[in-house]
Amino acid sequence: MDSLFHFVFALVGGYVFVKAVGFESRLLFLVLLALLSEFPDVSHLMGNLALLHNIFIFVPLLLLFLFFHKKGKKNLQIYMATFMIMVYGHLLADMIFGIGIPLFFPLSAEFYLIPQMGLCMYDSSFPHIMYGSNLVECFFAPSGVALTLYFGVIGILALVKNYFFSK
Ligand SMILES: [Zn+2]
Repeated sequence: MDSLFHFVFALVGGYVFVKAVGFESRLLFLVLLALLSEFPDVSHLMGNLALLHNIFIFVPLLLLFLFFHKKGKKNLQIYMATFMIMVYGHLLADMIFGIGIPLFFPLSAEFYLIPQMGLCMYDSSFPHIMYGSNLVECFFAPSGVALTLYFGVIGILALVKNYFFSK
């Protein structure tokens, strides 16, 4: 996915999240975090996208989140959670089309994509399951599924915020 899409996806997701948890963030910080959340694409410059397009990049981020939790730094915790959401959105967006990403690298080199199928209208009045990359006029297709997974997780995290943010 292109950098502009990643940036906007991250910024909107981050904005929705901080609003949903009732946190007053400066927009500039969200813009900076959205820019930083493009970091997995540095691995393209290194010639191997696998390096930063896998779920294990969340380990250091999660450790930092827990560190801020232990220290009772609620603001930093919320910024860290926002950043992790943005990075999650990055990986998700890279799974909408193309070759996908090796989610479990280095444990597995297999690439994963959101299933390339949809429930679509095409040459018929009845919607039917279609496969491939030209999924148009669909009730659901990979792009919609990605949006649902992204904002669904943001919504769930906002609902359970009291359990993981310091008081
Ligand atoms: Zn990427």
